[in-house]
Amino acid sequence: MSGQGQGIAEASNFSIGALLAAAQDDLKAAGIEQPALEAAWVLEHALELSPLMQRVKSERLVTSDERTRVQALVRRRANREPLQYVLGTQEFCGREFHVTPSVLIPRLESVLLVEEAVRRCQELSAATVVDVGTGSGCLAVSVALALPTTHILAIDVSTEALAVARVNMAYHGVERRIECFCGDLLSPLEGSLPMTQVDVILSNPPYIEEMNWMALQPEVRCFEPRLALAGGRDGMDVHRRLIQQAPTCLKPSGVLLMEVGAGQAMSVCRYAEETGWFRVYDVLQDRGGIDRVVCLERWHGGLNVQVPSAATEMTQFTPHS
Ligand code: GLN
Repeated sequence: MSGQGQGIAEASNFSIGALLAAAQDDLKAAGIEQPALEAAWVLEHALELSPLMQRVKSERLVTSDERTRVQALVRRRANREPLQYVLGTQEFCGREFHVTPSVLIPRLESVLLVEEAVRRCQELSAATVVDVGTGSGCLAVSVALALPTTHILAIDVSTEALAVARVNMAYHGVERRIECFCGDLLSPLEGSLPMTQVDVILSNPPYIEEMNWMALQPEVRCFEPRLALAGGRDGMDVHRRLIQQAPTCLKPSGVLLMEVGAGQAMSVCRYAEETGWFRVYDVLQDRGGIDRVVCLERWHGGLNVQVPSAATEMTQFTPHS
């Protein structure tokens, strides 16, 4: 069946098996790496038929409507649109999240942010957590589900992203526990929150540096929101602004957790310590051994404390497995 070299556009009458093979041929011709797997997922989504049932019912003829639906999705994917946008979902922390091109597709490494936020809040009876640049809401929702008594504020500058986040919050039943705000970084909280109330600020800010933009995969560069990816000349513009803004919201000993790009952790740590407001208490590595999450604790006393240099702190880090 497969390998006939006939795409969806060529044949007039399809069985499920033949449509699957044709979808696979179209994806393969477009250079998609795993055409068989992705074709089965596209059919599963468009026909609501699991890969197993696609085989069981492989002889059934498809309607022209079904064929059009599959063809539309295959075209988008062949155009290098990420499969997650084509299918509308991505798994994160073991749960399904709705995604559209208005939000960054959740990445495995961001689980580190959730784990650390949960670790910091576990002992507190009613913690307050702020997710800056919530996007799909995957971090805010995952923290909300892990910590049932925590109050969460989710902020994004994009109203389209917040709409997606709200869908995910409702889907996972935590919409009443998460307040959404639209605006730049922490600015929407001014006036709506008593100062120094927050236990944890977590964020996956944009961190792709200008020079690396063109080297991104076409799936990422052409389809994911630039706003969620491009972090200015050295990729750390937003980290610096967040470090400047965070101390006014954080409790003494409150923490700021930020995801960073490869090679950025040291600079972000140094910058944070030089403000005099933060102590670096950890840097978490992702599965690839890359320093991925910078963990900053607000000094109890604020500005007047003598801070050690980032270099001495860095030597004390033990790698995480
Ligand atoms: N991890 C993403 C990538 O490498 C970038 C995410 C971000 O900029 N926050 O494509």
